[in-house]
Amino acid sequence: MSISHTIRIAFDIQDKNIIFAEDCARVGTILCTFLEGTLTYTPTHCDRCRVENEDYTIIKNGTKTSTIVIPAGITKKTYLKLRKQRFYCKHCQTTFVAKTSLVNEGCFISKDTRLQARVKSAEARSVKDIARDCAVSPTTVQREINKASQALQTYNRPFDYCQ
Ligand SMILES: [Zn+2]
Repeated sequence: MSISHTIRIAFDIQDKNIIFAEDCARVGTILCTFLEGTLTYTPTHCDRCRVENEDYTIIKNGTKTSTIVIPAGITKKTYLKLRKQRFYCKHCQTTFVAKTSLVNEGCFISKDTRLQARVKSAEARSVKDIARDCAVSPTTVQREINKASQALQTYNRPFDYCQ
């Protein structure tokens, strides 16, 4: 079993395009763990102009690193320093960055962390407590609660028409 596979299982990271090296984990302070990973793959088409990747139309062109908050353990916060592959499209002469199912585009908080905040908001606890547990800001937790609330309102609307 490879290190990448083990880390993916241990931290519940589903994206198989994220690769972890032997020395990818380190303890930051007593309160957090840092993971380092690389996100890379061969794109099928350009994200900008949609041209198909044939005969090296799209080439690898450096990386862009972002730090992503992933669901916290019981006692420690976990940050994933992710080196995302940058691609260059010869057809439209622009660059774009590899995408991952771990986060929404342009976001630094993993989808699972957002979900964790939503689940914890069902408990009788303060927004600040939940934010501390999930290693995000209270504003993020409040935003997730508002989104969940809006989703429920949308869900209830068709029911109103039935009455
Ligand atoms: Zn292009």
